[in-house]
Amino acid sequence: MATNAIDPIPPNKTFDTILVLDFGSQYSHLITRRLRELNVYSEMLPCTQKLAELSWTPKGVILSGGPYSVYWDDAPHVDPAVFSLGVPMLGICYGLQEIAWHFGKNVLAGEKREYGHAYLKVESHGDAEMGGHVDKLFKGLEGDMEVWMSHGDKLSHLPDDFVTTATTSNAPFAGIAHRHKMLYGIQFHPEVTHTPRGKELLKNFAVDICQAKTDWTMGKFVDQELARIRALVGDKGQVIGAVSGGVDSTVAAKLMQEAIGERFHAVLVDNGVLRLDEAKQVKETLTKGLGINLTVVDASDRFLGRLKGVTDDPEKKRKIIGNTFIEVFQETAKKIAAESQGSSRAGEIEWLLQGTLYPDVIESISFKGPSATIKTHHNVGGLLEGMHLKLIEPLRELFKDEVRELGTNLGIPEDLVWRHPFPGPGIAIRILGEVTPEQVRIAREADYIFIEEIRAAGLYRKISQAFAALLPVKAVGVMGDKRVHDQVIALRAVETSDFMTADWYPFDGAFLKKVSRRIVNEVEGVCRVVYDITSKPPGTIEME
Ligand code: GLN
Repeated sequence: MATNAIDPIPPNKTFDTILVLDFGSQYSHLITRRLRELNVYSEMLPCTQKLAELSWTPKGVILSGGPYSVYWDDAPHVDPAVFSLGVPMLGICYGLQEIAWHFGKNVLAGEKREYGHAYLKVESHGDAEMGGHVDKLFKGLEGDMEVWMSHGDKLSHLPDDFVTTATTSNAPFAGIAHRHKMLYGIQFHPEVTHTPRGKELLKNFAVDICQAKTDWTMGKFVDQELARIRALVGDKGQVIGAVSGGVDSTVAAKLMQEAIGERFHAVLVDNGVLRLDEAKQVKETLTKGLGINLTVVDASDRFLGRLKGVTDDPEKKRKIIGNTFIEVFQETAKKIAAESQGSSRAGEIEWLLQGTLYPDVIESISFKGPSATIKTHHNVGGLLEGMHLKLIEPLRELFKDEVRELGTNLGIPEDLVWRHPFPGPGIAIRILGEVTPEQVRIAREADYIFIEEIRAAGLYRKISQAFAALLPVKAVGVMGDKRVHDQVIALRAVETSDFMTADWYPFDGAFLKKVSRRIVNEVEGVCRVVYDITSKPPGTIEME
């Protein structure tokens, strides 16, 4: 959890945990996600993890796929201690090859790559001599099964003491298992949706073979987490944290409030480029609705003053807003610290709350190959000069969908739980060109109408992110028989599952017509509305 605090109750000590050792496949994190969806807790660590340094014992280990070939001189290998850990193990793709390599080095390059769909034939053994464990991985999946392959290497022959459990027309060793140990390998990827029954296979492994409990639910996590926060912060410690009105910071703040009440101080910085009436609404929800101890700082003038005249480089806007934010947050933190020092009920502010999620953690630890250096996690605590705050990150084990479920459990309104992401620099990066109070007004009003119509049409949850941007150009129009020369609003709405790639949303014409009519009629200064039909890539979701 925090950089220099000992975490008393991490989930891997309280929940049965399947350890995924990552060899750098682009799907590794999906293995962890699928297991969590089965209510089995799972964590991912780099394949180089030394087992002696692990402070907990996994119920089972999965070796992921990876872009390397096990027979390369500098190929990554697991700590051999994994093989004597005595818990079941499943190798996926590179993972299977790693197991075969460990038991006999019989892996080589195939004549052709196998990429895409394949039909798997499961071979049952039913052999009591082998303890019956060999068939367990494919239990209920006997017969033909569609799987997804992505490999170029193959096993030359079975390692000693292994049997074949599945084949495809291309891969005679699509599935292997050890005769006596709970050791399994599969050449295909069960974690991707292209393997439709892959989740059942993962369940067979985690639940039947590893005997992991399926008790990973947000209802259970919340109790553990409150206890964990209280143990960490103690009964006098105070915590400060910024909130934005987004789901992550709100869920994190609500957890803190439940755990330590008024000793958590939430700070909302109004940077002048929030959405229409947003600061007011966030204040209502967080204080009246959720009982969070919140300080709102209106620093709009300072932000807008510094943004004045910045027209050239969008990065400059981001920097100004980022730095000003830290400055304002720091001033506020010091003020709150000074005010609360005299009170007898609490000690000093020692902790800084961060809404870090598991994908950020994975990103910072994931295995990037023999030569790449591993990025250390960005520590905002260090940015708050002279305060020496320790980080507390109560969501650091959670995926986004888990955060939403937790939010619902904590009584956070649905509207907020399903809110579209909103960037830190706010609408400043949706106003192309100079950000002035007048431009902010136009962008805000147009955005408000667009989102209102999306909600009214019942599309808000289908769309992943939507907003109105203000283009730095003027176009001619005729309004009330008069020629006008006014600005152009661009609407953007995308669907995506991971925000890495995205498609623009195919609104019907009537919807666009209605939004366009309302914006031109109701927002002074706009005479044209266009719809952005660029996918990501090559476009980004935001415009700057
Ligand atoms: N590089 C290995 C191969 O080509 C493993 C690939 C993988 O894990 N997806 O067979």
